[in-house]
Amino acid sequence: MSKCKFKRVMLKLSGEALAGTNGFGIDFNVAQRIAMEIKELVEMGVEVGAVVGGGNIWRGRDGSDMDRTTADYMGMLATCINALALQDSLEGLGVMTRVQTAIEMKEVAEPFIRRRAMRHLEKGRVVIFAAGTGNPYFSTDTTAALRAAEIEAEVILLAKKVDGVYDKDPHKYSDAKKYDSLSYIQVLEQGLQVMDSTATSLCMDNNIPILVFALDEPGNIKRAIMGEEIGTMVCK
Ligand code: UDP
Repeated sequence: MSKCKFKRVMLKLSGEALAGTNGFGIDFNVAQRIAMEIKELVEMGVEVGAVVGGGNIWRGRDGSDMDRTTADYMGMLATCINALALQDSLEGLGVMTRVQTAIEMKEVAEPFIRRRAMRHLEKGRVVIFAAGTGNPYFSTDTTAALRAAEIEAEVILLAKKVDGVYDKDPHKYSDAKKYDSLSYIQVLEQGLQVMDSTATSLCMDNNIPILVFALDEPGNIKRAIMGEEIGTMVCK
């Protein structure tokens, strides 16, 4: 067997990650590449839960003139579209998957049932958690933290466009410093752009480490699983 550092992980992909360079919608070449990386993990015996965002289609805050809850429900539905796209890419590679939604749409996917999700994971199926937490005013980062706690994932793999957490925007400042590790409190106190504060607090309270790394670099998800020192680890 492999020298995996983790047995069960929660992978958080932002909606943007699926948009590729288009910045909007779904780039199926990108979805395919992500699916191939996930497949590698499954073949290594890692149990994978995944939460996908919806920002490539709609974010609640895009609807500034709208009723906030309606705008947020639109965002949650956007995550379902992404979840089905990822499911399709994974199944195309022969990876068994289940999508579970926090808002019931049982013709489309299973409702979220924790025990059932655990069973799928034990059987080597990738479980994609869609529709966020099912509640407005939350994010898919918070969803990842919540589901990670529920399925007892050992780590949240937070795939980003940048290769870790910096003290300032590395695209704007050449002297930006990357952190190898950070505590939850540092993230919260310094307002660092890792997850929103609700999600970070949930991870802190439940002691779930967050590994922030760049998705653009092929093979990075596997490196993260093997415990290679990539990205930034946020923990106690
Ligand atoms: N959302 C929500 N409740 C949740 C999760 C998500 O209302 O529990 C909505 C919210 O409007 C959010 C949108 O869904 O903006 C898409 O999620 P997110 O912005 O987290 O996606 P990402 O930025 O990761 O692509």
